Amino acid sequence: MEIMKNRSYLRKLRIESNLKNYDEMKKHFKWSKFKKEIHWMEKDKLNTAVNSVDKHIGTVRENKVALIWEGEKGEEKKFTFREIYELSNRFANVLKKFKIKKGQRVFVLLQRVPELYYSHLGSIKYGAVAGTMFPAFGPDAIYDRLENSEAVALITDSELVKRVDEVKKKLPKLKHIFVIDKPKGKEIDFHKEMEKASEHFKPKALNPEDFAFMLYTSGTTGKPKGVLHAHRSALYEHLTAKWVLDIHDTDVYWCTADPGWVTGIAYGILGSWSNGATSLVYAGRFDAEKWYELIQKYSVTIWYTAPTAVRLLMGAGEETAKKFDLTSLRHLCSVGEPLNPEPIKWSLKVFGLPFHDNFWQTETGGIVIANYPSMKIKAGSMGKPFPGIHAAIVDDEGKELTAGKEGNLALKPPWPGLMKTIWKQKKRFDKYFLNKWYLTGDKAMKDSEGYFWFVGRGDDIIKTSGERVGPFEVESALISHPSVLEAGVIGKPDALKGEIIKAFVVLRKGVTPSDALKNELQMHVKKNYAGHAYPREIEFIEELPKTQSGKILRRVLKAKESGLDLGDTSTFAK
Ligand code: AMP
Repeated sequence: MEIMKNRSYLRKLRIESNLKNYDEMKKHFKWSKFKKEIHWMEKDKLNTAVNSVDKHIGTVRENKVALIWEGEKGEEKKFTFREIYELSNRFANVLKKFKIKKGQRVFVLLQRVPELYYSHLGSIKYGAVAGTMFPAFGPDAIYDRLENSEAVALITDSELVKRVDEVKKKLPKLKHIFVIDKPKGKEIDFHKEMEKASEHFKPKALNPEDFAFMLYTSGTTGKPKGVLHAHRSALYEHLTAKWVLDIHDTDVYWCTADPGWVTGIAYGILGSWSNGATSLVYAGRFDAEKWYELIQKYSVTIWYTAPTAVRLLMGAGEETAKKFDLTSLRHLCSVGEPLNPEPIKWSLKVFGLPFHDNFWQTETGGIVIANYPSMKIKAGSMGKPFPGIHAAIVDDEGKELTAGKEGNLALKPPWPGLMKTIWKQKKRFDKYFLNKWYLTGDKAMKDSEGYFWFVGRGDDIIKTSGERVGPFEVESALISHPSVLEAGVIGKPDALKGEIIKAFVVLRKGVTPSDALKNELQMHVKKNYAGHAYPREIEFIEELPKTQSGKILRRVLKAKESGLDLGDTSTFAK
């Protein structure tokens, strides 16, 4: 009961939100005024990793816990800012020893273990370009990313390295594979090297436009795109974490996203630590009771998660939540897919707090539209543009539309978080821009009070459990099976996951459709492409609808799936 009182007391302290008056801030906002919010090493030189961790050394935060890590079996480790600083220094020295050059790509393929966090920071600190991959990826997806980025080093573990082994021969640039447990053959013993390395490192002071990190994300067509972010994004991550997530350095903050995705980097490492928060990382899978137990055990104050997780919690029922003391929570945020009013109402009832929806993309480098703690929430809306961001709804020519009209969600460049480029694909980068607007690829509507409402993707990208999946990559994985002639993949609306992946498959001549084959195809995609992005539904069809130039008309497959009108069919193949 005593604990209960203490925690309620925490909430009653009513910490004032960092952004007190959205409208005022928006009116007078200038990026130059906020430059001083982050750490500059010399005039106009910075390093994102230094800004997130090193700047706390020599301050009251030096010995404060930066990372609380809990493993799947309940193991617990805690690291102070000083420890993360020293470990990332050591890893930077390891990169130096192996003669990695500034700007070369160093990738991590790990579960959510502490090594991931400090080696990623060490790579950035060193001046390399740090990349991460979602650990559910199979050999083909891993190959695409390592091959395109021409990564020279990889940090992984003895289980995940097996997937790399399958494609290693085709990756001549990948010279150094560090394994954090049981290295074999030519693999480098990560921890042995860490022990030998010095804990002192003089980080590189870099230009704001220098590359800091990259993440691969899916487009509608072609292989995944390597989105490059520059060191200047530190300012954007910092300020959005401060004003949208409302991070104070007294907070215990839990971002449930995996660092294989951008949220796990920008708000699971960089922006959150830049604001001095203690971050919780849980390496295990979703489990409602376990999640509540973690919030209770560590007195989590800010929680950043995705709508699918909220729906799963709703499914577990209010009684489950009631078994735990969750009164430490003071601010809840959600991202990645539309957040309907229902989960907001539910969380208000169960936690006494609403989830605040916000919108952004791998390419935008940080939250661009949000519901702020000090602003009225319109349930179901993504909120209003971040101060310093000009968002609008434009038509297909890039002309701004008036309030109430549906159109393309566009943002006016530049802003510090905007990606620097798409790695080795300038044409794909240029395609994002129209008539001086950056196009998100999403359809939305702005109401008369300036709130933005998500309508849907303007293209065929699938969002399943908040994770972005390109239909082309799943189709390619299906086609690599000897029984498949062609495949068309779409997102099918799903009450829990937002969308599930559905594949329409044309079999080769002589192959008999069966449930066993469906199963086999699912396993094939899981094994070769990704464990999380396999088609949960497969339908065998005779022929795929295509344009006259031979492109699959996924729009028609979608319409067929939902029993809708087939739309404009004038471009169909005759
Ligand atoms: P990613 O780059 O993987 O973060 O995916 C970005 C895409 O996720 C956006 O273009 C949207 O389609 C979707 N998305 C992100 N946040 C939201 C949100 N709050 N509401 C609706 N869709 C969202």
